[in-house]
Amino acid sequence: MACGGSERRTSQVTAEFDLIESIRARAESRPDVILGIGDDAAVLQVPAGKLLVVATDTLNAGVHFPQETAAADIGWKSLAVNLSDLAAMGAKPAWCTLSLSLPLPQADRTWLDAFLDGFFALAGLHGVALVGGDTTRGPLSVCVTVHGFVDEGRVLRRDGARVGDDIWVSGTLGDAAGALAQWRKKTRIVPELKARLDRPTPRIALGLALAGIAHGCIDISDGLLADLGHVCERSGVAAEIDITDLPASDVLPTAFEEEAIRALQASGGDDYELCFTAPPDARVAIENLAGREGTSVTRVGRIVEGSGVRALLGDGCEWAPASGGYTHFA
Ligand code: ADP
Ligand code: MG
Repeated sequence: MACGGSERRTSQVTAEFDLIESIRARAESRPDVILGIGDDAAVLQVPAGKLLVVATDTLNAGVHFPQETAAADIGWKSLAVNLSDLAAMGAKPAWCTLSLSLPLPQADRTWLDAFLDGFFALAGLHGVALVGGDTTRGPLSVCVTVHGFVDEGRVLRRDGARVGDDIWVSGTLGDAAGALAQWRKKTRIVPELKARLDRPTPRIALGLALAGIAHGCIDISDGLLADLGHVCERSGVAAEIDITDLPASDVLPTAFEEEAIRALQASGGDDYELCFTAPPDARVAIENLAGREGTSVTRVGRIVEGSGVRALLGDGCEWAPASGGYTHFA
C-alpha cells in the first residue's frame, strides 16, 4: 500500500518492481523450490522424513548495526545471524525469505546490488535459495527468515543440558564486541575485529556434526553469560564458567587489556559462535569432529545443579561482569 497521488504511486510501484526484479535475477534456485520469487507465495518440497526448522531475525539500522555499515556487510550479516540460529539447532539450511524496508537513499540499484553481493556470497556458501520476501519503503531494516531440515531426534535444543555436562564454545569470543567498543569510543577499529563484527561465520557444519552428540546448544548473539543463562533456565540447571579459559583471537590482546577482554568475551555479543553442552565421555568425539569441520572448540566450564551462571577466576573466586549482555527494551 502506498500513499500520495496516483502519479507518485505509479512511480513508487515501478521502483518496487524494479528492485524485486533485480533481486529475482540474482537468486539461485534449488530442485526443491517448486515456485520461488514471483508468485504470491513460495511452494517448497520438504524432504520426506525430515523436520522443518524455521528461524527469523531482524536487523535495524542504528540498533543492530551502525548506520554507516557497508551495504555488502549488512547483506552478509542479515543472513549470517539467521543461519547461526539454524546451526544452533543442528539444522541444514535450505531456503530463506528477505523482507527489506529501505529509505530513499538505499532504495536504489547501487545500494541493493552491494547488499545482494554480501547476501548471496553467504547464501551460495551454504546452498541456500532465496524464495521470496517483501520490499517496502521505510527506515532501513532487514528481516530474514531461514528454513532448514533436521532428523527427528537430532534437534539441538536449549533445554537439553544435563548436570555433569561439559560446556564448550566454538571459535573465539570477544572480537565482534571489541570492534563495537572501538566504534563507540570513536577510536580506530582494528580491521580483523571489524571483520568479525560485520561478517560473522555461522557454524553450520559444526552444528550438523554435533547433532546427536551435544545435549544443549545455543548460538552466542547477546554474550556468553546471557545466552548460556537461557540454556540453564530452559534446562533447569546451573553453569560454572572458567572465565580465564575463554578462547580469544590473537588480535584481541593487541587492542584491549586483560580485564576488558574478559568483559568482551563474557558479556559482549555478536560472536555467533556456538555454546553447547555434552557429556565428558564425548570429549574425544567432539575434538575429532571439530577438527574435521575446521572449527576450534574449547571446554570452558561445566553444568551443575541449581540455577544461574557463575563465572569463576582461576583461584575459584567469582568474577562479576559489569554488564550481563545485550537486551532490548532494557
Ligand atoms: P504481494 O503484493 O503479493 O505481496 P510483492 O509485490 O510483495 O507481492 O512480491 C512479489 C514477489 O516478489 C513475491 O513472490 C515476493 O515473495 C517476491 N519478493 C518481494 N520482495 C522480495 C525480496 N526483498 N526478496 C525476495 N523476494 C521478494
Ligand atoms: Mg509483498
